[in-house]
This record gives sequence, structure tokens and C-alpha cells, in this order.
Amino acid sequence: MNAKAHRIKTLILNDGISGTGKHLKQIHAAVIRHNLHDDTYILNLLLKRTLRLGLTFYSHLIFSHTTHQPNIFLFNTLLRGFVSNNLFHESVHLFLSMRSNGLSPDSFTFPFLLKACSMLPNLDLASHLHSLLLKSGFGRDVFSQTSLLSLYARCGRLDDAIKVFDDIPERNVVSWTAIISGYISAGKHREAVDVFKKLLGMGVRPDSYLVVRILSACAQLGDLSSGEWIDQYVMEEIGMYRNSFLSTSLVDFYAKCGNMEKARSVFEAMPEKDIVTWSSMIQGYASNSLPREATELFFRMLRKNLKPDRYSIVGFLSSCASLGALELGEWGSNLIDRREFLTNPVMGTALIDMYAKCGTMARGFEVFRAMEEKDRVVMNATITGLAKNGHVELSFAVFGQTEKLGIRPDGNTFLGLLCGCAHAGLVGDGRRFFDGMSRIFSLEHKIEHYGCMVDILGRAGLLDEAYNMINDMPLKPNAVVWGALLSGCRLHKEMRLAERVLKELVKLEPWNSGNYVQLSNIYSGSGRWDEAAEVREVMNEKGMKKIPGCSWIELEGTVHEFLVDDRSHPQIERIYGKLEELGNEMRKMGFVAKTEGVMFDVEEEEKERAVRCHSEKLAVAYGLMMSKSEEDVIRVVKNLRVCGDCHEAMKLISKITGREIVVRDNNRFHCFRQGFCSCNDYW
Ligand code: ZN
Ligand code: ZN
Repeated sequence: MNAKAHRIKTLILNDGISGTGKHLKQIHAAVIRHNLHDDTYILNLLLKRTLRLGLTFYSHLIFSHTTHQPNIFLFNTLLRGFVSNNLFHESVHLFLSMRSNGLSPDSFTFPFLLKACSMLPNLDLASHLHSLLLKSGFGRDVFSQTSLLSLYARCGRLDDAIKVFDDIPERNVVSWTAIISGYISAGKHREAVDVFKKLLGMGVRPDSYLVVRILSACAQLGDLSSGEWIDQYVMEEIGMYRNSFLSTSLVDFYAKCGNMEKARSVFEAMPEKDIVTWSSMIQGYASNSLPREATELFFRMLRKNLKPDRYSIVGFLSSCASLGALELGEWGSNLIDRREFLTNPVMGTALIDMYAKCGTMARGFEVFRAMEEKDRVVMNATITGLAKNGHVELSFAVFGQTEKLGIRPDGNTFLGLLCGCAHAGLVGDGRRFFDGMSRIFSLEHKIEHYGCMVDILGRAGLLDEAYNMINDMPLKPNAVVWGALLSGCRLHKEMRLAERVLKELVKLEPWNSGNYVQLSNIYSGSGRWDEAAEVREVMNEKGMKKIPGCSWIELEGTVHEFLVDDRSHPQIERIYGKLEELGNEMRKMGFVAKTEGVMFDVEEEEKERAVRCHSEKLAVAYGLMMSKSEEDVIRVVKNLRVCGDCHEAMKLISKITGREIVVRDNNRFHCFRQGFCSCNDYW
């Protein structure tokens, strides 16, 4: 190299170190002046420099100003630069011009070109490159092969990808990652997990990115044991460090598999937790029906001065919905900009759902109306919320807007509508929606739609029609459908049919003690003691216990829990005192503890003393004791169905105290006001 060339090389390198590239033009001018623009070494240096700075246009200019034809060396430099600057189309053009110049690609050309193809993606070119690769003799190069493999995987050509993978003589971790990603993108999670285990068996060390993908595949499969094994293996055998990325995905994996204890132990062991980690944990609790744990963790997160993100807010709101904790939910929703709710359908749906489940659907409807982005999920949540809260006409009106909003209804839309018809006793409308959904919207009736229809007919006393519908339906009836008919039997005191239904239910859900209790109650209620004893015997044999009733009430941000016959609350003496006082008033009004309805009650067969101590009564008494204002609505949530006796008592208590009492049981809302319930005694 002569002195001039050497000086220019130094100039380029120095400019490279200074980093701005502002002298590049002067340097380029010097290159031309000194007739060095055909010096491949200098040009390559200049190209690399401009490409690294992202000056791709300038690079191309330098490239096209060479007087001799550029060689493969320069082509490769430019190609690599284009690909790393995400100029995939330009890369392909460059390749075509290289071919028209009669140049053949080499082992450096293929990996980058294939990457460009897979990013575009361009399958035709890929096939062409594949054959070129084989012809050129670079076919066994692991980098080219891996690029080709990920290209096929990305384009959904899994079979081709597998063929390439099988042909690679020495696979590296990148090739393994590519094939596993291919399986995952094709939804073949089981295969992905198996291939991953094979990789471990061959002693290949995966990176944390791949482990995270595999854990999410295990979560998709609900495969707890594979995930646990992988976690242990990479930790103990490979000695991989649990970075926070990996730990967060483990939290997510355990939560999705329903093992919240494991999720918690990984979570607590993390030295640094970011908002993503907290959100995974909160959402995990929320979706595993552990709303109290979710809200407690949310508070702990706030105490760490972390600002909640969308995911943690959605988890928190859905937990408040499960707890019926309206104040808490509203407070939580204020932690985040209102606009987020109005512009993001997922957030909006969470808020509407919270209002719906807390029995304040008027607020939920306001949110719906204010929302700028309405999609089907938001609309369905609104229709269902309105329907379940008794605003049936309004839910029909929202349905009437679907066309205007450009939303196509789906099965869930009709489920909401039918559920409204059921609660309002609208047989005609119910039939109309049920027929219309298949006739007009070509939607298939799912088992849930049949369940609603049976419910509608059962409530109206059309028990035979409901029973026939179940027998004629093309799907195998499940417990929900039979349960709907049972409710009808309960209302219309149809013991004979109820007995038949309960026998079906016992077959379908042999673990559900409620069915046995009701069946035995029916037998003992009609003096069939032997049969009643038989049912009890079966229950004893199966070691069955009744699920204890449990109720929650939220007061000033704290959720209090009561069990049946509970004595654990610190103020329990006062609570029983309050109930005694209410009981006296009720007796004055002629109230006798209900025994006849007890036949259908899932909780207790013992009469007056026991029913008095049901958890919902304890919670309501406590609410009455503690609430500051006469205006406050008493809101209680119960895990089982409200029993007939408690229902009657709540009506009277609402009359005696002049207070509004809202009880949400595992199926619906009861809003007690002035001696009446919104369910019209049908539930
Ligand atoms: Zn009760
Ligand atoms: Zn009711």
C-alpha cells in the first residue's frame, strides 16, 4: 500500500472513531482525487463505515461510482449493511444486479440474503436461493442452512424447514432455535417441547430467549411437569442464571398452569422485579380465582412506587369484580389516565365488567357510551352486563347498534341477549333471538345457548317444552343445561321432574355434593326416608363434604370474609347480637324460617338455627353495623347460591332497615329494596 492510500485509510479509521462521519464526504473526495476509488480495500472500509452510520444511500452512491465492476467482496459488504439496516427490498435488488453482472454468491452472501427473504418474506426467491445454494456447493454451510431453515419456518413451510434441519450436519444453537420457533409458530407446541428436550439431551446449551419460548409453549399445553423439569434442568445441569427475563416467564408459566405457589416462590426469590413481573403475578392470581391475593399484591406493588400498567390494572379490576368490591375498583381505575380506558377495548372491557359485576351497570354503560374504540368484546361485555343487571331493554338497544358500529355479533352476543330474556321472563324475545342467531347470522347454537333457552322456558313454567328441548338437542346436554331445568322445577315445585334431573346431574358431576344434598332433601321432604338415607350413604362412601358457604363484604377498602356459622371475626358477638335484633323484628312481621324451600338448598338441611347463621346473613349484619351512612348500599358476594330462607330474610331486612342490599351469588345479582328482590324470587 502506498503512502497516500495509507494516509486515507488512517483518515477513515479516525473518522470512524470520532463517530459522527461528518468528514466522510471530504474523505470520499480525497479518495477520488487520489484515484483510489478502485482500491477494494479502501472502498470496503468506506462502505463499512457509512453503513454502520446508517448512511445507506451514501454507501450505495460510493458503490456505484466505482469505475471497474465491484467484486463479490464489496457486494457482500453492501448486502450485509443493507440487511442490518432493515433494507430488505434493496438487498434483493442488489442481489439481482449482482447476478446480472455475472457474479456468483458465496458462503457470505447466502445467510444475509436469506435473512432478507425471510423478513419480506419472499418464498419464490427463497426456493431459487435454495437450489442455488445446493448447486454452488455451499449447501452444507451451517449459517446458510440455518438462514434457509428460519426462512421456511417464518413462511409457515414447516415441512421444508424440517427437511433443511435434518440435512444440517452440525447444528448450532441458532439452528435449534430456528426449528423450535418454527414448531411454535405453527402451533405445534408438543413437538417444540420434544425437540427442545432432544437439544438438551445432545448437550447443546440453549440461550434464555429459547428457554422463555419453550416455557410459554409448555404453558400453552398446560404441561406443568415438562416446564418444571426444564426449569430444573437449565438451572442445575446447565447452571443457567435466572435473569429477570427468565424468571418473569417462569412466573407467567406457573401462573398459567394454575400453580400459584410455585409462581409466588419464583417471584419472591427475584432480587429485582419490574412492572411486567408484578403484572404477571397479579394477573395470575386474578385468573386463578384468587382475587384477594391479587389485590393485596397490587397494593404491595404500589408501595414499591411502581406505576401500574395496563396488565396489572386489568388484573386488579377483574379481582375487584370477583370480590364485588366497587369502591376499590373505582379507586384503582383512577390510578390510570381515563383516556386509556376509553381508547383501549381491553381496558374498557375490564372496567365495564367490573361495574357490571358490582351491580352498578349504569356506570358501566356510561363507560361504554364514552368509548372511542368499540369492538365486539366491549359490546358483548356491555350487553351481558346490562342483561344480568336487569336492564334488558337497554341491552337490546345496544344490540340494535351493532350494524351502525360495524360489529358482527357472535355467539357471546346472543348469549348475553338470551340471558337478559331469561332474567326478565321474555319467552317470545328469547325464541326470536335463539332462532335468529342461526337463521339470520348463520351462527351455530352452542350448549350455552341451549342452557339459556331451557332457563327461559323453565322459568315460564314450560317445563315439558324445556325437557323436550334437552332431549332433542344435537349436543350432549351438560350440567349447566340440566341445572337450568332444575331451577325451573324448583320455582314451579315440580318434584318428580326435579328428581329425574338431579339423577342426570349426579351422573354428570359425581363430585358435586350439592346435587346429592338436593336429591336427599327431595326424598326426605316427601317421606321417602330409605332413599334419602341411600343418597347420604353414597356421599359418605365418596368422602364428600359440602362446600362451605362463604361471603365477602368490602368496607372502606378492606374485604371481610365470613363462613357458615363463623365465629372467627373479632366483632362476632356484636354481629350475632345484630342478627338477633333483626330476627325479633322479622318475627313481629310474621316471618317464620322457611323449611319447605330447604329441599332445594345446597347448603344446609338443618332448619332454623343453622340457616340463621349462613355466611351471607353474617356479612349483611356486619355491613349494617359498620356502614356510616344510611345511603350506603350493602354489597355482599357469596360463593354458592343464596338459599330460600336467606333470600326471604334479606327482603324483610331491606324493608325493616330501609336499606338497599345487593347480594351477588354464584349465578346472579339480588338487589333487595323495600321488601322486594330484583330477581322476582326466581333464581
Ligand atoms: Zn342462606
Ligand atoms: Zn333475589
